[in-house]
Amino acid sequence: MRITKIENLVIKRPVGPPETASNREWSIVLIHTDQGLEGIGRGGDPRVIERHLAPLLCGRDPRQISQLWEQMYEAVWRGPGRAAMTSIGALDVALWDLYGKTCGQPVWRLLGGYRDTVPAYADGAGYTSAPDQSPEGIAAKVKEFSDLGYDAIKIHMYRAENPDAVVERVRCSRELIGMDRKLMIDVHHAWDGAEAIQTVRRLEPYRLYWIEEPVRQDDEAHYMRRVQEATSSLVVGGEGEGTLYGVRKLLEEGALQVVQTDILAGGGFTGGLRLAALAQAFHIPIAPHGAQYPDLNCHLMAAVPNGLIVSSCPPSENEQIWSALYAPAFQVENGRIAMSERPGLGLQLNPDFVERHKV
Ligand SMILES: [Mg+2]
Repeated sequence: MRITKIENLVIKRPVGPPETASNREWSIVLIHTDQGLEGIGRGGDPRVIERHLAPLLCGRDPRQISQLWEQMYEAVWRGPGRAAMTSIGALDVALWDLYGKTCGQPVWRLLGGYRDTVPAYADGAGYTSAPDQSPEGIAAKVKEFSDLGYDAIKIHMYRAENPDAVVERVRCSRELIGMDRKLMIDVHHAWDGAEAIQTVRRLEPYRLYWIEEPVRQDDEAHYMRRVQEATSSLVVGGEGEGTLYGVRKLLEEGALQVVQTDILAGGGFTGGLRLAALAQAFHIPIAPHGAQYPDLNCHLMAAVPNGLIVSSCPPSENEQIWSALYAPAFQVENGRIAMSERPGLGLQLNPDFVERHKV
């Protein structure tokens, strides 16, 4: 089997309320073969793929996944950073999809097949595209997600420079949903160390499940350890760190209690498997970043013993396209993903949706 062509598709869709919507672009990559099979990947930078990676893959056997991965990595790691890694990730996902289709098995089984159902958390409360940014407005969104059956919900704390506002958003949310659901916050590196320690102590009564990227990055590991001592919540991060060596450093420094490396920036399933094994050597679970692609993340989470939970921006939000991109639709039901037995990723692009939104 040979790769004949790499095709990039870009989908454009408005994000936010109709009055103030802005367009967001989503890339999809397709790997075509001489056997008529086609692999689907999402994300990556079409220019990096076209210029640096497609010439490397065309004419090659797509089943040599780890060899192709190493060659792609060697070709671009000095270059455009995250754009390069996400492009390798997108292509690696497509290679695994193809491999699954070749052997008639779903990717999650080929990667390890640890569990056939994975939990998902609702991600998207606090997105700045929402019209109501008040603590009550954000709490209402949390309640909406809780009512959809999600057992775990994350609030993005943009403009978290004011810790009082963060505590208030959490207090309002707990008031609406009670204490039973898992509640997480993402602070996006907003606080310095001392501020983070004080604020997580104030958040302790609300029993947060995890606190994500609470401290700024100039001395992250040191302060992540200090924050861990100050809270009973999990202190998590690492979504921006894609290489095995960068994640190893964070783990050796004791910075992370959950590894959140993005599935694409981490180099797809090939990179994700290595990162999962690395994290396991530190007794740490993984929960990859990527609210916009639960359709990909679920395969890695289902495959490995230390897969914790999948991030998922609910279908009600127009920040995501995963719920509309495929026919039949990819589904997250009651905060759970039932893994499909269909070969590869088990996904087929919805031609009507793609046609309508293609750039
Ligand atoms: Mg985050």
